Amino acid sequence: MEPVREWVVRGADLGLRVTEEGVAERVPVVLVHGFPDTSEVWGAVAGRLGARFRVIRYDVRGSGGSEAPADVEGYSLERLVEDLVAVVRDVGRPVHLVGHDWGSTQGWAAVAARPDLFLSFTSISGPDLGQVGDWVRRNRLRPFKVLNVLRRSWYIAGFKVPVVPELVWRVPAVRRRLGAGRRELVNGLGLYRANVGAKGPRDVRKVSVRVHQVRLTDDPYVVREHLEAAEPWVEQLTRSVLHAGHWAPRTHPDQVARHIEDAIDGTHRRRLVVITGAGSGIGRATAEAFARDGAEVVVLDVDEERARETAERVGGHAYRLDVADAAATGAVAEEVARRHGVPDVVVANAGIGVVGSFLRTSEEDWRRVVDVNLWGVVHTLRAFAPRMVERAEGGHLVVTASAAGYLPNAALPAYSTTKAAVLMLAQCLDAELREHGIRATALCPGIVHTDITRTFTFAGSTEAEQDERRQRAARTSRLRGFGPEKVAAEVLDLVNEVRPHRVVVPVTAEANAVHLLNRVAPGLVRALGRLWRA
Ligand code: NAD
Repeated sequence: MEPVREWVVRGADLGLRVTEEGVAERVPVVLVHGFPDTSEVWGAVAGRLGARFRVIRYDVRGSGGSEAPADVEGYSLERLVEDLVAVVRDVGRPVHLVGHDWGSTQGWAAVAARPDLFLSFTSISGPDLGQVGDWVRRNRLRPFKVLNVLRRSWYIAGFKVPVVPELVWRVPAVRRRLGAGRRELVNGLGLYRANVGAKGPRDVRKVSVRVHQVRLTDDPYVVREHLEAAEPWVEQLTRSVLHAGHWAPRTHPDQVARHIEDAIDGTHRRRLVVITGAGSGIGRATAEAFARDGAEVVVLDVDEERARETAERVGGHAYRLDVADAAATGAVAEEVARRHGVPDVVVANAGIGVVGSFLRTSEEDWRRVVDVNLWGVVHTLRAFAPRMVERAEGGHLVVTASAAGYLPNAALPAYSTTKAAVLMLAQCLDAELREHGIRATALCPGIVHTDITRTFTFAGSTEAEQDERRQRAARTSRLRGFGPEKVAAEVLDLVNEVRPHRVVVPVTAEANAVHLLNRVAPGLVRALGRLWRA
C-alpha cells in the first residue's frame, strides 16, 4: 500500500486537513468521523479499505489538524456539508461516502443536497436529524415508544448548557475515559448547540443515493428506531447488523471494513434463516414468514419431499436431515455454511409427540422422543451456533419448546420432559451467548393446528387405537383453531425485535395462562396437570 499523503483543502470558510491512502487510481471512498473524534478513528478501517480503494479522510472543522470556526454558528450542518462538498470536489470525481456518528449525520444532509457527488452512502450510528423529527411526529400517539428513543439523547441537553460541559472536559480523567482531546470535546459541543433543536422542525428530503445502514447492536445512543426513521425517505435502503458498541470503527475495524465493502459493492447478503422440521406446520409457516420478510431460507426436514415442497414455496433450499443424527446434522451445517453462509437465525423446531402415562411409555418411546426433541435440538445448535459466534455478527436461536414444558401433567411425561429440557437449554444459551450478540428464545406454543397429531405415538396403544386417538387429537387441535402462521408471526416479530427481547415466549391464550399461573398459583397448575390424563 502507498504511504499516507496529507494536504489542506479549503472548506466552506476554513482549512481542512485531508489525508489519503490506498490505491490512487481506484474508486474513492471518503470517511467522515463524528464527535469527539478526529479522522484517526478511521485509522485501522482505512488501512484495510486501502487494499482496494483510494481512501480519503479529513478532520472535521474544529478537530485534529483542521481549523475551527469563530463561533457556534460555524458548526451548522450547512457549513459541514459545504466542507464535505469541498473535499469531494478536490477528489475530482463522485465518491462512496461513509460516516460515523456526526460524520453520518452530516453525510445524510450531504447526500440529500448533492446526490450527484455520491455513489453510495454507508451510515454508521448517526441518524438524519430531519428524519428523526419526522419519526417522532409520526409516532406522537405512542408516547412511550417516543420517550424510549428520546431518552437515549439525554446527554444532548447537558451539552447545550453553557460552560458546564467545558468545565467537565477540563478533567483529565474524563478526557481519558472518552479517549478524546480537549479541543475536539470543546469544539464538538458546537455540533449539538448549532444543530439540535435550535431552529424548530427541520426539512426532510428524499434520498436517491443508495444508502446502507450498519446497525450496531450495543450502541446506547443510536437504536433501531433511529435507523427505521430513514425508511420512508430513502429509495434504496439496505441494512446490516454488527455486534459492537458505538465506537465500532475503533473496536471492530475488520468487520466495519467488511460491511463498508459489501455496502459499496451492493453485495449485502440477505438474512440467512435455517429451520429444522420446516417441511410442515410451524416450521413451514415460519419459513414462509421469513421468506416474505426478504430472508433466504434453508429448509431442513427428515421428510425430503415435504422439505422440497416448502423450499419451492419460499424460493429456499431444501436438505433432508434427521436431527437425531449428530454426524448428519454436522455435515448438513458444513454444507449450508459452504453453499449459503453462516445463518443469522436458527430455528430448532423439529419435534415429535409421544402421548401416554409414564407407566405405559416404553424405553423405545422414550429414546425416540428424547433423540428428536432433545438431542435433535442439541445437535442442531451445536452444529450452527459456533459458526455464528465465530462470525461475530450476532444472531438469534429459536427453540420450539412447548407449554407442555412448564405444565407438569399425567398425559405426556416423556414429551413434556424433553420440552422442559429444551426450555432450559434456550435460557442457558441466552445467558451464555448474549456476550456474542446472539439471543436465544424458547417458543412455548399451546395447541396449534398442524399435522403433528399425524405422527403422535400413543404409548401402549394398538395400531387401531392409535389411528382413532390420532383422529381425536386432530379434531381437538382443529377445533382450537390456532394456525401455525400465528406462531410464525410471533417468531418474526421476536427476531426483528418488534418487541423487547424475551427468552421464554408462550404463544396461544392457554400457554400464556399456564405461564402466568405458574407464577401466581403453581399449586393450581399441578392440580390441573393431575386432571390431564392420556
Ligand atoms: P408437524 O408435524 O406439522 O411438523 C414437524 C416437522 O418436523 C415435520 O415436517 C417432520 O417431518 C419434522 N421432523 C420430525 N422428526 C424429525 C427429525 N428427526 N429430523 C428432522 N425433521 C423432523 O408439527 P408442528 O406442530 O409444526 O411441530 C413443530 C414443533 O412445534 C415441534 O417441536 C412440536 O413439538 C412443537 N409444538 C407443537 C405444538 C402443536 O400443538 N402443534 C405445540 C407446542 C409445541
